[in-house]
Amino acid sequence: MLTLNKDTKKTLLYISIAFTFSVLMRLIWVYQFSGVEAFKFNNQFMINTNDGYYYAEGARDLLSGISQDNDLSPITSAGSLLTAFFAKILPFSFESVIFYLPVFLSSLVVIPIILIAKGLKNLEMGFIAALLASITWSYYNRTMAGYYDTDMLNIVLPMFLLWSIIWAINTNENKYLIITAIDILIYRWWYPQSYSLEFSFFGLILLYALIFDRKNMFNYKLLAIMMLAMMNIDGFIRLPLVLGAFYIFTQEKFDKYIYYILGASVLGFFVSGGFDPIWSKLELYVFKDAISVGKEGLNLHFFTVMQTIREAGQIPFETFANRISGHAATFIISIVGYAYLVYRHKIMIFALPMVGLGFLASVGGLRFTIYAVPILAFGIAFLITEISLKMPTNKMKVLSMVAFTLAILYPNYKHIDAYKVPTVFTNDEVKVLDVLKTKVDREDYVVSWWDYGYPIRYYADMKTLGDGGKHSGSVNFPLSYMLTSSQVEAAKMARLDVEYTEQKFKYLKENKEEIEDKNITIFSNIEDMTKDYGFNDTNDFLFSLQTEMTLPKKTRDIYFYLPFRMLNILPTVTLFSNMDLMTGTKGKQPFFFVSKNFKDSGSKIDLGRSIYIDKATSSIVIGQQKIPMKRFVKTTYNAQKKLDVNVQLINPTSDISVIYMANYNTFLVLDEKMYNSLYIQLMVLENYNKNLFEAVTLDPNVKVYKLKI
Ligand code: MN
Repeated sequence: MLTLNKDTKKTLLYISIAFTFSVLMRLIWVYQFSGVEAFKFNNQFMINTNDGYYYAEGARDLLSGISQDNDLSPITSAGSLLTAFFAKILPFSFESVIFYLPVFLSSLVVIPIILIAKGLKNLEMGFIAALLASITWSYYNRTMAGYYDTDMLNIVLPMFLLWSIIWAINTNENKYLIITAIDILIYRWWYPQSYSLEFSFFGLILLYALIFDRKNMFNYKLLAIMMLAMMNIDGFIRLPLVLGAFYIFTQEKFDKYIYYILGASVLGFFVSGGFDPIWSKLELYVFKDAISVGKEGLNLHFFTVMQTIREAGQIPFETFANRISGHAATFIISIVGYAYLVYRHKIMIFALPMVGLGFLASVGGLRFTIYAVPILAFGIAFLITEISLKMPTNKMKVLSMVAFTLAILYPNYKHIDAYKVPTVFTNDEVKVLDVLKTKVDREDYVVSWWDYGYPIRYYADMKTLGDGGKHSGSVNFPLSYMLTSSQVEAAKMARLDVEYTEQKFKYLKENKEEIEDKNITIFSNIEDMTKDYGFNDTNDFLFSLQTEMTLPKKTRDIYFYLPFRMLNILPTVTLFSNMDLMTGTKGKQPFFFVSKNFKDSGSKIDLGRSIYIDKATSSIVIGQQKIPMKRFVKTTYNAQKKLDVNVQLINPTSDISVIYMANYNTFLVLDEKMYNSLYIQLMVLENYNKNLFEAVTLDPNVKVYKLKI
């Protein structure tokens, strides 16, 4: 029988307790929302991250074996493959698997944390750090139940890598060579951007070897095998290379060739383009201005998503500290603790790249903070164990550790308890897509804003023009144009953009080599349309949409998915098409105001933000301005759940109308351009042109129309 020594038993015990703790804390959300049916579908909670639907779509297609050309389903992605694997072997529904996968996979982070501490002969430090890191603010946010995304292993894998590097350097045992290499292979498979951390680890080991341990062959073996695992070639070629190198490294007779092998692996790394992604990153950040993008054609200017996202770099210190440690005090003490830990155990300097990446959050965006979480957790956990050593009795020792640990866990528990994020879609919205799925063909397209792309594809199994990964300015331009233009232009643009998108897929596939060899520029759909219709100014082309024109041959059906929730982002949607593509000049932003929080005081209705409806004069008061109302529109659902729309024309010369959506408790104040937009006409008023559109679903939450041209 297998007998475990006391140390191993204790390690396993700590790992199981920390893992269970991490899982249980993630079930708080599940408990809080257990009665909320709107968050469930197929008797299971839906996920709460948009991007998760990307991997879910790929996994669904892997399991069903059905995937089509150009449907953008990621059937070769690691996330989808791993999910399909778990869904296949586990006796739970697919919905349950994707919802709970982050809970269990992210909790695995406790294992490398405790193992690293074991190597430092301080298991208690590992245990405390594991408890803290597994539930710390940003790590929790990005790995909570339903946060189904690559983040669920993005810290677990580099922590295992760190563990194997530390143990390799500490013990010089051969087995850590192969463990490190396999770690890199898996990490790279899971998260292709992992090269930056791998490269930093490599650099640190190289420095260490050259400065402190130059004569030790083992270091060069480790560096060589890492380099082989990091080459920019297929994983199935790297694996045998790594295994071959491992075999050679375990035979002492080959030791004299180590330098040659290391040299060859470094050469292989550079030749295979392993350094290219790092180089291009450097170019991007360091030589920002030196980059000039060659432009030909119409040189169109598009609005970019980045312009709508709040400028990174102004993260308040407290947010930053909270996200890394749960509390500003914990954060500061943790930094001191980590410095002291490195002083006492030099080997922990190898964790520095993760701290560095975490601190990049201050310039690169909040999502990076999770990298620093486990390392700084070591910092404070080390101090807690050091303080306990100063305690006079054993009882005091344990008590102090328990007290300090509870104190650092508490702010993170409070955060979890208060962090009540909703699911991406509600049950009502998903039901619409679930029904739509039965009426359409997989090759049909859905037009909607890119935010809804992944979930639409997952639930309705159709194609989309934009999604969480495809939302450049040139992709968003036609989408924005369709949603905010009048029906005739929107309908024509929908047919044009879908057919152009499909034609482009075909062209790119059939002419792949020629395009690469001759470096042929691929233009945006809107640019191609402009040229094909004989214009050299996109404004002229867009103007021509109002006239008679021959549209491309219809190859499939197109549906418009118009959710009520889009009302809130309509001004943002507008930005992408409300500009002159030829010059980049932004158009005048149309007037659009949504009020869901208004007060009727008899003579006037206060819509908030100093906007009032003056009932006596039927006008809108905006600050000091008083504008007559063009129309007052009231929409109500009648007993048959049909929408009644009552339009009162008040002052035909005015530009501003008011729509009161009675059942939604919502007021809209909007100008003529917005009033006539496809979204307002089809979603809010159900006033659709019967020659162009056919109503498919008129659910109050989502309206779906089929394009007739
Ligand atoms: Mn598909």
